[in-house]
Amino acid sequence: MVKHIFITGGVVSGLGKGITGSSLGVLLKNSGLKIFMQKFDPYLNIDPGTINPIEHGEVYVTDDGGETDLDLGHYERFIDVNLSKISSTSAGRIYYEALEKERNGKYEGKTVQVIPHITNEIKQRIYAAEIESKADVVITEIGGTVGDIESQPFLEALRQIRMENGKENVMFIHVALLPYLKVSGEFKTKPIQHSVKELLNLGIQPDVIVARSELEFDKKLKDKISLLCSIPVENVIACPDSDSIYKVPLVVEEGNLHKITAKQLGLKLKTTNLKDWKKFVNNIENSKEVLTIHIVGKYVELSDAYLSVMESLKFSGYEISKKIKFNWINARTLTAENTQDELKDAKGILVPGGFGEEGIEGKILAAKFARENNIPYLGICLGMQVACIDFARNVLKLKEANTTEINPNTKYPIIDILKGKNRENIGGTLRLGRYLTSLKENTLAQKLYKSNEAVERHRHRYEFNNVFRSDFEKNGMVFSGLYLEKDLVEIIEYPKNDFFIAAQYHPEFTSRPNKPNPLFMGFVNAVNKKY
Ligand code: GLN
Repeated sequence: MVKHIFITGGVVSGLGKGITGSSLGVLLKNSGLKIFMQKFDPYLNIDPGTINPIEHGEVYVTDDGGETDLDLGHYERFIDVNLSKISSTSAGRIYYEALEKERNGKYEGKTVQVIPHITNEIKQRIYAAEIESKADVVITEIGGTVGDIESQPFLEALRQIRMENGKENVMFIHVALLPYLKVSGEFKTKPIQHSVKELLNLGIQPDVIVARSELEFDKKLKDKISLLCSIPVENVIACPDSDSIYKVPLVVEEGNLHKITAKQLGLKLKTTNLKDWKKFVNNIENSKEVLTIHIVGKYVELSDAYLSVMESLKFSGYEISKKIKFNWINARTLTAENTQDELKDAKGILVPGGFGEEGIEGKILAAKFARENNIPYLGICLGMQVACIDFARNVLKLKEANTTEINPNTKYPIIDILKGKNRENIGGTLRLGRYLTSLKENTLAQKLYKSNEAVERHRHRYEFNNVFRSDFEKNGMVFSGLYLEKDLVEIIEYPKNDFFIAAQYHPEFTSRPNKPNPLFMGFVNAVNKKY
């Protein structure tokens, strides 16, 4: 029997429900269980693929090409399991699929209603995750906050799942805010009580409360929460703010969250082995010296847009006891006149992925600056495309070189749309998910991966145009990674420089604690050498 853990949020959003769930996942996995995670988001977009990163942070891509919420990145980095499309479901997708069934006559003339039709769709996704993952435990996070109009059908579905399977198989963890009032110098439990009441209104009695607070709090407060929320006192877990999200598994271990879970769900735990996790946390603590990386992007005001890139850089830094500092450069305002000023101190330049016209000329300038000044360069997706455009314009002297994403009529379409893809239908039509890259002998790519192949995740519509390949090669560019089946360029590198490499895929999605992606590790090592 697969066990389910449902994570709900109370009082405010942004408390780290995902981190709490993932932390419990770390504990259970390292106690010998197979874990799977999923998230339900109450918004109406079918998936976050079309949401502006300013609103929603990065789009995290799964192996099987799901465009998902950034929380899935946390899940994967914590529990070190490759998740899939079933791990991310929005209310939009649920309604879309239900309405499609209605149009196809699948409801046999019945009136289609939130209960039972929408709730059944939700339940079906949870049971499908159970079957697909073959996990011992499925941890499901419900986005948003209890009390939101949008989350009601989800909570009703969870209530039904508990009814169908019993308390010994289904557990509710409520992560809620315990605010501290500076003026009176005390914690206030009332918001937690109210959010538990909201849950009770929907027929759900939580089994555990994870009280998120700014500061540590004492046992008396736990007693109070326990009494007023009808929860055994040992099931009230303190989770004060932590200076690193990666310390949270250790915090909830202290609170015995895994043991409480095991007791209720009848799980047999082996001795929890957090050796590797603790090593990682120690590395974080011991990383004091700073390496600065210049990131030339479009959304510099909101670094959540590049969350996985940042985590990948940090993980690589920890491997060599270095703390990474980000120097955000706004690609929109980078010009031929100010590039020198903005980037003259750079010891490493990274151009991440991106879409659309804004900022692209600035990114091309950044790639040019790195190439001409032998500054370590890592280009990701659009970051590879702009490096190719710079090379065409300034080395091959094809001044009008461009990507057809920006200028469909360019004389030199260095980057062009993949055959069979179109520009109009923007949702879910990209080249998505994992593909195999074959790595060329004796190249930097092969050296970094220590292998002849790499499997990485993609999210793009345009590709390097093979018509220009031999001209590039004649001038010193090396195509060190190819997707052989379709003869697509996956990695370029420029061996004249100490470190200049760019990939059409997104290496940031496969970095894990203690296991940074090889391209990031190589880049950070190269930056370190420049100090
Ligand atoms: N806009 C480019 C494309 O669609 C690059 C995408 C990306 O950087 N993720 O090909």
